Amino acid sequence: MDTLLLGTSESELDIAASLLKSGEVVAIPTETVYGLAANAFDSEAVKKIFAAKNRPCDNPLIVHISELSMISDIAVSMPQTAKKCAERFWPGPLTMILPKKDTIPLVTSGGLDTVGIRFPSNETARRIISKCGFPLAAPSANLSGSPSPTTAKRVYEDMNERISAIVDGGESDVGVESTVISFEGEAIRILRPGKVSYEELLSLTDKVYLDDGIEKKVSPSDIVRSPGMKYKHYSPKAEVILIDSGLDEYKSYVSSHYESGVFSLLFDESEAIDGVPHLVYGISSEEQAHFLFERLRQFDEMGAKRVYARCPQKSGVGLAVYNRILRSAGFSVVRLDGGKG
Ligand code: AMP
Ligand code: MG
Repeated sequence: MDTLLLGTSESELDIAASLLKSGEVVAIPTETVYGLAANAFDSEAVKKIFAAKNRPCDNPLIVHISELSMISDIAVSMPQTAKKCAERFWPGPLTMILPKKDTIPLVTSGGLDTVGIRFPSNETARRIISKCGFPLAAPSANLSGSPSPTTAKRVYEDMNERISAIVDGGESDVGVESTVISFEGEAIRILRPGKVSYEELLSLTDKVYLDDGIEKKVSPSDIVRSPGMKYKHYSPKAEVILIDSGLDEYKSYVSSHYESGVFSLLFDESEAIDGVPHLVYGISSEEQAHFLFERLRQFDEMGAKRVYARCPQKSGVGLAVYNRILRSAGFSVVRLDGGKG
């Protein structure tokens, strides 16, 4: 059946909530990317998310809440550092891994005894969760492996006839998925970088670690702290190659490797190379995060076979942009003199 397209009026959100209450899957906007939501307590409903996405069943989902009091139904306990993070960054693009209660079925947590919890700032997402009265498990609303959708149109392209409805809340603000963190005593470990940055987390505790999986490839047999890290991710059909270099080196590398089907992903129009088609994704890390996934999808529409991407700054949300390009490139990086390293 065709997927129903809904706006954000009260009556349309009532329809979304009633579908969710009857165990259906509905795509919803959030400030990071669009999410594919179902009742986090209902294992049959959650199984439909995995089926719609073709997602491996050991890749856990994030559980979304609309008020702090919902945590006590989901998590056994919350360390002091987690409370400080909630105070500072919630509602917002931060997911915290906590020990789960039995109310959360193992399907939702990908078989783990922990659960990722997020309190989104997006008003539509919160209104839908409140109307439901239960937390929503919601991974990104793309087919597993492809770039996350930041508009309802992109969700429709991947999910038409696979889910009941899509709520169109406009473009996602941040553009990359939430920062995922876990706690080790007083220390915070970043499992996946996002808009809430390493630098910001350092303002809460002097012990913030970056997980190995952020910059390094992990093989499917490795035991990893963040199960999503072992899968191919965020990939367009085109081959992506990250070029870590200054502008001059980038230009001469791309020119000398040019052939039909090669495109470049630039920060700015002023970097264009004669004869090489390109898209730009922004100068600031915030712009790059906002546009990255949309640009990767546009390259596919343009028939790109290979994309040479300018390497972003690795600070602030830039680390998240770097991590997503690195993964979409299957960790294929060319380092040339003049790179930022
Ligand atoms: P997505 O829903 O597509 O944004 O992916 C959510 C990601 O969050 C997963 O792929 C994991 O890497 C991470 N995650 C969610 N729950 C947990 C958990 N309990 N422990 C560790 N990582 C988690
Ligand atoms: Mg995802």
